[in-house]
Amino acid sequence: MERTLISDTPKKVGEPVRLEGWVNTVRDHGKITFLDLRDRTGIVQCVGTALPKVSPESVVEIAGKVTRRPEKLINPNLETGKIEIQIENLKVISPAAELPFDMGQEDLNLDLPILLDYRSLTLRHKKQQAIFKVQAVIIEAFRDALRKKDFIEFQAPSIISAVPEGGAEVFKVDYFDHDAYLSQSPQLYKSLLVGIFERVFSVNQIFRAEPSVTTRHLTEVTSLDAEFGFIDSWKDVIEMEEYVVRYIFSEVEKKCAKELSLFNATLPKLPDQIPLLKLKEAQEIIYKRTGRDVRTEKDLAPEDEREICKWSLEEKGSDLIFISHFVTKKKPFYVYPDPEDPTYAFSVDLLGRGVEWSSGGQRLNDYKTILEHVKEWGLKEKDIELYLQSFRYGVPPLGGFALGAERVTMHILGLKNIREASIFPRDMERIDVRLSTLSEKESS
Ligand code: ATP
Ligand code: MG
Repeated sequence: MERTLISDTPKKVGEPVRLEGWVNTVRDHGKITFLDLRDRTGIVQCVGTALPKVSPESVVEIAGKVTRRPEKLINPNLETGKIEIQIENLKVISPAAELPFDMGQEDLNLDLPILLDYRSLTLRHKKQQAIFKVQAVIIEAFRDALRKKDFIEFQAPSIISAVPEGGAEVFKVDYFDHDAYLSQSPQLYKSLLVGIFERVFSVNQIFRAEPSVTTRHLTEVTSLDAEFGFIDSWKDVIEMEEYVVRYIFSEVEKKCAKELSLFNATLPKLPDQIPLLKLKEAQEIIYKRTGRDVRTEKDLAPEDEREICKWSLEEKGSDLIFISHFVTKKKPFYVYPDPEDPTYAFSVDLLGRGVEWSSGGQRLNDYKTILEHVKEWGLKEKDIELYLQSFRYGVPPLGGFALGAERVTMHILGLKNIREASIFPRDMERIDVRLSTLSEKESS
């Protein structure tokens, strides 16, 4: 008999079915056993007598019949709550060892290290799965939004030969007899490709040797990058980014209602237009609200980001806010200084719910000015030869942005730690397993 998916069982009342999946929970009531079966489409209650012993999370095959539940036993919280499966035969396909903790609870309630130490197991929990279903929708929506605007996807390389954007947070790798690095960003490639395709985007892993453990930094990040040419001004970049972010929210709203409700999450609140402040204006507001004089700082500290987001929500009804005009010299060489005051650049961050979600802006496209910046920033031309080659032969005015997929996921769902929004997170203490336990094993 063909396999029936759990989501199809309510349509098959009275019919025989063959189900396959994992045992979500087992409740043994003496002779009669209740077993919740889970597959990729949902969960259904199965009932049987004289069943073989089966442990939670085992993979099983169940042959049985779909029956309507008595009125008072209907479970309104379950999509299959009006029916159950009368088990005729249960076969264990792949037994599960004894679980280290109860996986049958609504919330796993595990400390983060345990949640990650048992990743293959904990990801089976429906709330953990929900995070990555939402993330998949976010990433697909990013792609879809840009494809609709005629952007083409490209694959950015991860191995690079030099680090023109500043080398402090970079991983060095052995590359035959040479030094090479793991890419911190596809920035240079996406910009040079504007000279070819006009509009490009990429979804790829970037690497940051973040030297501290925080709730918002990983060492491997999924970067959602977009870049496009023939812009009239840096405002075109903001407009495109706002379109993309709204598109992502509407897709998540349409496709992830169940997942959002598991987390009691509401999508970020947005007015007709996302507010936009210059760095200086933001600093002035922070000073007025808190008395902390940040007006001469060259960037926003994490507490400043939180404060300006609070202002944005209270005063503008917006969970998101754009901050522009960061200090030119604090940005990479390709930033476009504002001609009215070149100390500040046409660079833009998007902040959401207290944290930076993206950085972007207009980039230089004039070859001579790029060369001047390269000198001023103390870089070697040979390190970015391919990039310079592109601009030597003509590239239109351009700009773009990069959103961190984990940051967006985390703040849409209200997760406390970015590690929860990365399916296999890496940080300075973990590459799948805790690095401390690795070195213990090696030395023992
Ligand atoms: P922050 O100041 O928050 O550390 P950043 O300014 O160094 O971030 P960018 O270089 O601007 O980061 O990268 C673009 C986006 O990529 C960020 O806005 C963020 O969403 C994401 N991102 C960058 N580094 C990390 C990281 N280590 N962990 C998670 N996400 C990151
Ligand atoms: Mg940034």
